[in-house]
Amino acid sequence: LNRRLAEFGTTIFAEMSALAARTGAINLGQGFPDTDGPEEVREAAVRALRDGRGNQYPPGPGVPELRAAIAAHQRHWYGLDHDPDTEVLVTAGATEAIAAALLALVEPGDEVVALEPYYDSYAACVAMAGGTRVPVTLRPHEGTFRLDLDELRDAVTDRTRLLLINTPHNPTGTVLTREELAAIAELAVERDLLVVTDEVYEHLVFDGAEHLPLASFPGMRERTVTIGSAGKTFSFTGWKVGWITAAPALVTAVRSAKQYLTYVSAGPFQYAVAEALALPDSYFTGFRDDLRAKRDLLAAGLAEAGFGVFRPAGTYFVTTDIRPLGFDDGFAFCRALPERAGVVAIPNAVFYDHREQGAPFVRFAFCKRTAVLEEAVRRLTALA
Ligand code: PMP
Ligand code: GLN
Repeated sequence: LNRRLAEFGTTIFAEMSALAARTGAINLGQGFPDTDGPEEVREAAVRALRDGRGNQYPPGPGVPELRAAIAAHQRHWYGLDHDPDTEVLVTAGATEAIAAALLALVEPGDEVVALEPYYDSYAACVAMAGGTRVPVTLRPHEGTFRLDLDELRDAVTDRTRLLLINTPHNPTGTVLTREELAAIAELAVERDLLVVTDEVYEHLVFDGAEHLPLASFPGMRERTVTIGSAGKTFSFTGWKVGWITAAPALVTAVRSAKQYLTYVSAGPFQYAVAEALALPDSYFTGFRDDLRAKRDLLAAGLAEAGFGVFRPAGTYFVTTDIRPLGFDDGFAFCRALPERAGVVAIPNAVFYDHREQGAPFVRFAFCKRTAVLEEAVRRLTALA
């Protein structure tokens, strides 16, 4: 392993899912649903396979049906207009979108400012691009994690090339507010920065919180790469269909990198996701409402079990503080948890450069069947 990647080793998600498989523990670690997405979307994939649509290399930017559906989705939900031919790119999951965007847009030595804790691939991809990551820490404040806008402004230097934003935010569940996003947008315009914004949990916002795409703020349309994922929005994480929407020059740049990473993304699934994006609003709101009920169940159960709970306004993760239980090292806690309670969780410290900042926090995923969450809560309650 070269020096750029040496510090990254095995991703925590693989490690923790392997631990779950080995111990038979309930896996609330890696974020994937235990119920597959809509039947009609699976049928659409089968039809595409059977009818020979996408079984050979599809077009590099993605099949036209899917690009049109992505543009229609952005218009329908956010009033954002994108030309499906020049402003949309299909990727192998959001993961490839992140990688291709950073590889295409970051010069060696450029600084990339990202909100810490961050999804683990951000750090690895900044490193692969030869960039320097500059974390801005979201700090616990009255039961949520908040962005300090002054810290964000102070993090930007003459070497900053790009802001890497994620809202709704994994792992904290924070949904950036209109005021915060407006301030980020102003900063990006003032300092002439590009913004890559990971919005894969766009439909998972609760309690009246609203997901606002950064691209919809003044001056942002031309400088923003927005990332979405069918894995998250339709519960098909194994399909690896994601996308970006951006201005033509940015899409062209990201496509240049994508061409040499995967060339194209899996064909038949693209046709199926095109149909999924056209599902009625009730699918999206139903999915959200179902997850809100699961959040309530798990958040209440964890509080009952003695965890400090950061109630998420978005995503399907809940971050907890283990100090009320008498622990302070999330790594040790998560490594021992399958043995002690038959549950797997993720230590948030892996999402931090400042590991000590994340040490007492542990993330649980609630994209699981109700009975599974109930059993997990029973086990965790016995822990106290
Ligand atoms: N971004 C964030 C914030 C995520 O949590 C994840 C993982 N679910 C991804 C990107 C990767 O998405 P995909 O599975 O589409 O590659
Ligand atoms: N994004 C998912 C999570 O945060 C996992 C994706 C992965 O394993 N790379 O749990």
